[in-house]
Amino acid sequence: MVFILNPKVKQEKIDGFMKSWEQKGFSTILSVGTEHTAVCLIGNTAQIDLDHVVHTTDIVDYGKRITEQYKAVNRTVHENVSTIIKVGDVNIGDGFFPVISGPCSVESEEQVLTIAKSVKESGAKILRGGAFKPRTSPYAFQGKQAEGLQILELAKKETGLPIVSEIMNQTQIDLFENVDIVQIGARNMQNFDLLKAVGGLKKPVLLKRGLANTLEELLMSAEYIVASGNPNVILCERGIRTFETMTRNTLDISAIVMLKQKSHLPVIADPSHSAGIRSLVAPLSKAILAVGADGIMVETHNDPANALCDGAQSLNLEEFSDLMRELKKRAVTEEKEIY
Ligand code: PEP
Ligand code: MN
Repeated sequence: MVFILNPKVKQEKIDGFMKSWEQKGFSTILSVGTEHTAVCLIGNTAQIDLDHVVHTTDIVDYGKRITEQYKAVNRTVHENVSTIIKVGDVNIGDGFFPVISGPCSVESEEQVLTIAKSVKESGAKILRGGAFKPRTSPYAFQGKQAEGLQILELAKKETGLPIVSEIMNQTQIDLFENVDIVQIGARNMQNFDLLKAVGGLKKPVLLKRGLANTLEELLMSAEYIVASGNPNVILCERGIRTFETMTRNTLDISAIVMLKQKSHLPVIADPSHSAGIRSLVAPLSKAILAVGADGIMVETHNDPANALCDGAQSLNLEEFSDLMRELKKRAVTEEKEIY
């Protein structure tokens, strides 16, 4: 960490500033330049609140971190080897590109079974379905909750597809015993108690980026889960809030590349919530594959017009099958295994 000092500050104050850090166990280096004087701090600076230091002393003008605060999810800790997460016999990460598909929300046994069988036939490797739904309006369909999870489990039994579903708070953890991947939704990305709770699980966690969160914040949330004991985190870019109103969100395509550069964790993207518009899902999916993501999660419905949630962005079963065909063709040039 480097502190750039206020040019007016006297030497004795600088000495006192450096000494105070040394007493806390850090080494310090003073660098006197022609325009700036800087103090470089060496040691475990992860716990230092940089803003607090800058704003509570008149010695420092501004500061900068040299190393990232996220350690366990940092690409460098794994000697640059990417993590592959296994879910049953499905691999996620480093050359594998599984497609996760299914309805936004579980509506009925018949609906989920119809969709599950069809998307499996088309090549999806994991079934998604929301049982607990975070809805903007308290009057909107809130999901089938525990019964919804049972329906997903049934679909898993019938098709053999592993299942992923969103958990909304830590009191629900026991209900997720037979769910293969626990999803933390965008609205809960910084629910730190929930992050710590899923950090105690042995199963993979699909962590979606918050609507207005930076990549560093996403990585720090992943760090919470890994630091709590669960190394199996999959990051998911799902579109962020921008000034654009024609799409529901804006797919941050560079986020995928950046996250892959910064972290060894698998990075997937969600083209459905990114745009909120069915006709954009296939083009965005191809873009996601092209920039090097490790998979996609796509909302699919047997009757999108009558879906209880997110029908406008859901592919019908035929459109999903067409998308899989397109992706498989492109996977050859991208050297990805879509299986
Ligand atoms: C979802 O995947 O069903 C969902 C609610 O997504 P997000 O948290 O990204 O809005
Ligand atoms: Mn949805």
